[in-house]
Amino acid sequence: MNLVNVGYRSVNCYALEVAGGYLLIDVGMPGSFGEFASVLRRKSVLLEKIRFLVVTHFHPDHCGIAQELKNAGVTLLLGDVQERRLAEANRALAKFSGYLPISDAGNVVVATDRRAAWKAATGIDGVLLHTPGHSDDSVTVIVDGLGAFVGDLRLADAYTGREAELADRSWREIGAAGARRILPAHGQAFDLAA
Ligand SMILES: [Zn+2]
Repeated sequence: MNLVNVGYRSVNCYALEVAGGYLLIDVGMPGSFGEFASVLRRKSVLLEKIRFLVVTHFHPDHCGIAQELKNAGVTLLLGDVQERRLAEANRALAKFSGYLPISDAGNVVVATDRRAAWKAATGIDGVLLHTPGHSDDSVTVIVDGLGAFVGDLRLADAYTGREAELADRSWREIGAAGARRILPAHGQAFDLAA
């Protein structure tokens, strides 16, 4: 599967070529739609070919222009754990200038940790995992044969207390899902120790 990094500023945004277009993982800060559109042009990814968007979590540098993408015809796939936190996220993000609240309308909610639900929504072999640690609304996209898009989840030793426990469990689930290649939202890809 062809993968294009369409990130900007300090965030990796990944455009994964799927049947009929692209699945996009993460978008940047509120107000940055014009900047993102020019990255897409530079990387020869047509906006109208982006079918799906997953935001790994509701921090502004990952979901800041999600509603603009929806307005451009992209389907936002929300993990069930994210849908429950959407109103709270919109309230927290309202302080960022230019932020368009993500509406309830038009989203497709995907049950996390269920391969069949992910396959039905996207046609992709893999799973959307609930992977708290960095935040409770964090999800990881596992694409079989390619790797894990973990957002901002850092290795468990970067955390303490409850967060360390959650991150440790999340990493074990990522490994159990068969992913070795880790594609983080910031920095370089790396391989999980076997
Ligand atoms: Zn974050």
